[in-house]
Amino acid sequence: MQKIGIMGGTFNPIHFGHLFIAEEVKDVYDLDEILFIPTGTPPHKSNANILDGKIRYQLAKLAVQTTDYFSVSSIEVDRTGYSYSIDTLKSLHEDRPDVKWYFILGADAFLYLEKWKRIEEVHNYCEFIVVARPGYNQNELVCAKDKLNKNYSIESHLINIEGINISSTIIRKRCNKNRSIKYLLPESVREYILKNSYYGDE
Ligand code: NAP
Repeated sequence: MQKIGIMGGTFNPIHFGHLFIAEEVKDVYDLDEILFIPTGTPPHKSNANILDGKIRYQLAKLAVQTTDYFSVSSIEVDRTGYSYSIDTLKSLHEDRPDVKWYFILGADAFLYLEKWKRIEEVHNYCEFIVVARPGYNQNELVCAKDKLNKNYSIESHLINIEGINISSTIIRKRCNKNRSIKYLLPESVREYILKNSYYGDE
């Protein structure tokens, strides 16, 4: 059975932190591929400062173009209205029932998991791989993992990744202040952002 990791996120914009997490998780859990899924209209965020989904999708495509086991899906950005992960998971499962899916989530997003729409169905479609930066409160994560398993039969795995301290927020702020974003994200992505002045001039 093929094992595929799903990296769901806003990716506003995608950067080396995301790509490194995907690479590390693939390696540690022996996954065959990683599928990046930029969010459409996130149900839990205001849309201020979020670049249009089609553009974030395009940036993610540029970022993965040199890695054959990375790909990007437009399933959520193509959707109109709010986008819920349960709909995405169901659709992926129906298209490829032969695949075992792993949803890769940051620790903060994992602690919010109980609030997901139709959370009681999620265990039918994937397990979770939860990425915590060193120093994160492990007890809190272990408690959340146990509770999700007991209440919703969700299987999750915790991994600490010595991260690169890059965030999309830092990149947007640096663009806005005309500071360089070179070496924080792939060159193709940087050039595309600057050419189109997406987050202000670098
Ligand atoms: P996000 O805003 O992209 O990420 C939240 C934080 O985690 C950001 O600081 C981000 O850094 C970081 N991050 C992103 N991907 C990570 C990863 N794989 N491991 C560790 N840290 C990571 O994403 P989100 O809004 O929390 O949503 C995550 C996923 O959950 C999405 O697929 C979303 O659709 C899903 N979700 C579903 C529902 C629902 O169905 N009801 C509700 C909430 C979330 P950067 O800022 O640098 O990216």
